[in-house]
Amino acid sequence: ADKKLVGQTALVTGGSSGIGMGVALALGKAGANVIVNYSSSAAAANEVVEQLKSFGSKAIAIKADVSKEDQVHNMFQEAISTFGTIDILVNNAGMQKDAKFDEMTLQQWQSVIDVNLTGQFLCAREAVREFLKRGMVPERSKALGKIICMSSVHELIPWGGHANYAASKGAIKMLMQTLAQEYGDRKIRVNSISPGAIQTPINKEAWETPKALDDLMSLIPYNRIGQPEDVGNLAVFLASDDSDYITGASIFIDGGMTVFEGFSKGG
Ligand code: NAD
Repeated sequence: ADKKLVGQTALVTGGSSGIGMGVALALGKAGANVIVNYSSSAAAANEVVEQLKSFGSKAIAIKADVSKEDQVHNMFQEAISTFGTIDILVNNAGMQKDAKFDEMTLQQWQSVIDVNLTGQFLCAREAVREFLKRGMVPERSKALGKIICMSSVHELIPWGGHANYAASKGAIKMLMQTLAQEYGDRKIRVNSISPGAIQTPINKEAWETPKALDDLMSLIPYNRIGQPEDVGNLAVFLASDDSDYITGASIFIDGGMTVFEGFSKGG
């Protein structure tokens, strides 16, 4: 693979599993140094770090709950003191606490907003501060810094039983676009990746039985579930100068889920 990200440092939140792991490995293969953020399992994060090292990426794991201001601050301090700076933030950490709306507790609502939305705010703010403080990198003429927000098809498609999650992703769209607008002149690029169904622990019940997977296919024109590597490839593109004229965009990576297969036979 092309080493498009040599000399750059990427921080991936929630990088020890699923999409975050796929993104971390893809960025590392493209030559980036990678900080694998995790919130609970050091063992899983260290495994990703070992894989990254095996193909020559400098990698470390840092524990932080992205919804906690002090922990996010300390994570960025540690990352910057280890690698000198940060060039790429992938705001990936996220979770679901599903409930029928009339049964949803404030705790279920608040915890999803805290991680999926406030977590992206806290990490993006630290990244923007670092990009502005550092200024342009002399040997690079393109963007000063890049932020990739992990959104979802549910920034567009409403999702019954998941009002907290859908609200968090809808909000990410506006957070991302506002940052792209506010910092474009400072050469900071901000974009979202909006996945459809990617095979990870978060949506296990949607693919773990043949029946569930078959039902899922009725939503996906391209007739396969996505893999973390699919998202990793897109993240490398969005982090690299190949996408230098893309900012403020949500890129859907969903096997066509957002073309609404239910309408394929007409009305
Ligand atoms: P996952 O559960 O494997 O990954 C989520 C990661 O976030 C985990 O590593 C988890 O430990 C971490 N995390 C949770 N709370 C955290 C916190 N407070 N601080 C730091 N890390 C925390 O699931 P995934 O599918 O890989 O999800 C990754 C992202 O992709 C999420 O933002 C999710 O909303 C989004 N997404 C996933 C799909 C899909 O189909 N899998 C589709 C659309 C969007």
